[in-house]
Amino acid sequence: MTSTFLDELATALPDLRLLTDAADRESYRRDETVHHEPGLPLAVALPQTTAEVAAIMRLATQHRVPVVPRGAGSGLSGGSAGVDGALTIALTHMNAIIEIDRDNLCVVVQPGVINAELKAAVAAEGLFYAPDPASYEFCSIGGNIGTNAGGLCCVKYGVTRDAVLGLEVVLANGRVIRTGGRNVKDVAGYALTQLIVGSQGTLGIVTEATLRLRPAPPPRVTMLAFFPTLDAAGTAVAAITRQGIEPCTLELMDRVTIAAVDDWHHLGLDRSAAALLLIESDRPGDAAADELARADACCTDAGASSIERAATEMEADWLRQVRRLAFRAMERLGISRMEDVGAPRSRLPELLAVIERVAAVHDVRCGTFGHAGDGNLHPTFVWDRDDAAAEARAQAACEDLYRAAIALGGTVTGEHGIGAARRPFLVEQVGADAVEVMRAIKAALDPLGILNPGKVV
Ligand SMILES: Cc1cc2nc3c(=O)[nH]c(=O)nc-3n(C[C@H](O)[C@H](O)[C@H](O)COP(=O)(O)OP(=O)(O)OC[C@H]3O[C@@H](n4cnc5c(N)ncnc54)[C@H](O)[C@@H]3O)c2cc1C
Repeated sequence: MTSTFLDELATALPDLRLLTDAADRESYRRDETVHHEPGLPLAVALPQTTAEVAAIMRLATQHRVPVVPRGAGSGLSGGSAGVDGALTIALTHMNAIIEIDRDNLCVVVQPGVINAELKAAVAAEGLFYAPDPASYEFCSIGGNIGTNAGGLCCVKYGVTRDAVLGLEVVLANGRVIRTGGRNVKDVAGYALTQLIVGSQGTLGIVTEATLRLRPAPPPRVTMLAFFPTLDAAGTAVAAITRQGIEPCTLELMDRVTIAAVDDWHHLGLDRSAAALLLIESDRPGDAAADELARADACCTDAGASSIERAATEMEADWLRQVRRLAFRAMERLGISRMEDVGAPRSRLPELLAVIERVAAVHDVRCGTFGHAGDGNLHPTFVWDRDDAAAEARAQAACEDLYRAAIALGGTVTGEHGIGAARRPFLVEQVGADAVEVMRAIKAALDPLGILNPGKVV
């Protein structure tokens, strides 16, 4: 059956790049989720047009062959990881920036465009595309839409969903629909654009997106605050939020991550600190300095041991890079499982305490960093490659962590998604009735269940 499918695919789309070689399929097996054991793709298709994606889905429906939509494969929930017997559709060759529409402050792109390339292209026109995952140099817009990616400046500008105005989507049966468009206001019917964003390739395949742009903000003013305890850093973040201060970056790194980055790049960071906060303002003129002065006061009141300002734009870039290096620095220590828990922002100190507790109780090495201003943290558990006992302890720690986050009124995933890796905890967080509604939506759009099976619901 599957070889008939591949033969018909090759006949119907002779120009389609179709990888069937074992080594090629193997290289599309995983995303960046180390603890998830994925399947091996049946084959990998690299379409170049919406028509090709639609034709693939018509044949997949006819032959009931499952498909896995894939961007750059940087996901951290197994969303684009392979499924045995499924065709992986990698959208990386559909990577054109179709139009920068200055008049409507939006840009039309194909899904394979890399986030950093889009940012650079619109910046050249004096414009700004806000969502900036720490992976922005290598993740794609399609994947960002698939996961509703967050990032460092989401604390001020919102997540990917807030930047998506419209989509072109290929449905499971190969029909192509358009949702939204260039209107900033549009309430015609159900909010399909918002539904597709974050659905991790389980409801349709995004083949084009219209994204909101903003005028480029002024250069940022940047500071680092070091704290003697994690609790003091969490208290400072909660105070900044309570006082209505709106920095464009409010990121945290703990002692373990500071040391991991410093060991790697020898930056002279204060390794005696229990945590640091990276705080930035992009308000115009003196307002940026005023905003940082207010944030500085919150840090001082919470007990900051030292506070430093970046003297130049280059120094500010360098401090941002410190934060962006956090995960790769942890990966140098062993197998690294990055988690993604969140809590209401006032409860950040409690979330930090929970992370410390579960790591200690289960005796696992853990470094925590993340988007503190969003109440979203990435505790990253590390173990040696062949230490199966440590891996099992990390699994137990994660399960405790998820339950504790839910008990705080938080979430098991702020931005990486349920994917394949966190499925058992969806129902614990949202309840059986809500999952039933999600399943009904899935069944309506994908009655044969061929779109990214085993993911999300
Ligand atoms: C070092 C590092 C730092 C990271 N930092 C962040 C961060 O700050 N914020 C954050 O949110 N994430 C972060 N991530 C996770 C990851 O980069 C994001 O989830 C990103 O959005 C994934 O994009 P991708 O192109 O790699 O997509 P993939 O991993 O290939 O796919 C992600 C999901 O989207 C679906 N998908 C992909 N393309 C399409 C499409 N065209 N149509 C429909 N569905 C599609 C896939 O099926 C999958 O479910 C980080 C990852 C790493 C390794």
